[in-house]
Amino acid sequence: MIKKVMLGMILPLTVATSSFALPNLSIYATGGTIAGSSSSNTDTSKYSVATLNVDKLINGVPELQNIANVKGYQISSVDSNDVSTQIKLKLANQINQDLAGDTEGVVITHGTDTLEETAYFLSLTTFSNKPIVLVGAMRPSTALSADGYMNLLQAASVATHPQSKNRGVMTVMNDRIGSGYYITKMQANTPDAFRSEESGYYGQMVGLDPHFYYTPQMPMNMSKFDVSKVTELPKVEIIYGYQDTSPAQLDAAIAAGARGVVIAGTGAGSLSKPLLERVKQLTAKGFPVVRSTRVPSGYVDVSADEGIGSGFLNPQKSRILLSLAIGSGYSMENIRQRFK
Ligand code: GLU
Repeated sequence: MIKKVMLGMILPLTVATSSFALPNLSIYATGGTIAGSSSSNTDTSKYSVATLNVDKLINGVPELQNIANVKGYQISSVDSNDVSTQIKLKLANQINQDLAGDTEGVVITHGTDTLEETAYFLSLTTFSNKPIVLVGAMRPSTALSADGYMNLLQAASVATHPQSKNRGVMTVMNDRIGSGYYITKMQANTPDAFRSEESGYYGQMVGLDPHFYYTPQMPMNMSKFDVSKVTELPKVEIIYGYQDTSPAQLDAAIAAGARGVVIAGTGAGSLSKPLLERVKQLTAKGFPVVRSTRVPSGYVDVSADEGIGSGFLNPQKSRILLSLAIGSGYSMENIRQRFK
């Protein structure tokens, strides 16, 4: 079950001089390439991540002071592979408290490798209609043509723009405004790494002006979870499907303490015969196995005795929903409905 203990407020590191005419904006720094550096200005792959703190990031973009009264918070200084459940809970709870007050918008700087996981988690656990924008960079701050500073400034513009309300969690990268619920990293190296192929983008940046394609809208059938008193979530592992997969990975995950498992199956969630048999046995015993796909997009629907179809969610987003649903004590049927 979810463990419940109150988390304290985090005090800001940076408070810039306030102007009454400008909106209040909070920047939460977690680490990643946007805060990365290297001794070589052409290095885009072997640099150190999370070397700049939130003060340095904010001071690196003096133009931020023209658009908002900025407060900076250092939530963590990590590679995004090390963004833990605790870091995500801290973010969600602090953002909910912050946006309930006079803060108009929030920007979160994050490593791009798992940015979509935090964006999806925050989509399910935040409750404000004010903008929450995740931003990263594909090139470290020291690179020629570093993308992080402009991405940060554009993210701040989106987070303080009146047309940005009621759109859920967003991402800003490479001049594009995406939905944090749907966006996925699709390219490992280039600045246009993030795509939303089926659902599309919310809009495009032209300089510092967001141009939205549609009136405010939210993803369909989004689950919401109150994590205000949560400090831990059940462990959910992801295993990978391929030709002739054995059930060994699944059993190893359970032996290591997983309370649910997501399978990145082939095609529309297909599995080898032995793995499918094991999934059926576990399903009959009430152990949740979500079947997603290793294919970049598409819908997975499976019979009730053969696990739980992930719907449109990719494996890494399925892991987050499954963990929150198990932690909330939902039945198999309720979990199945959440994924539909
Ligand atoms: N692996 C690092 C991270 O996700 C660097 C990738 C990036 O931020 O672009 O934090």
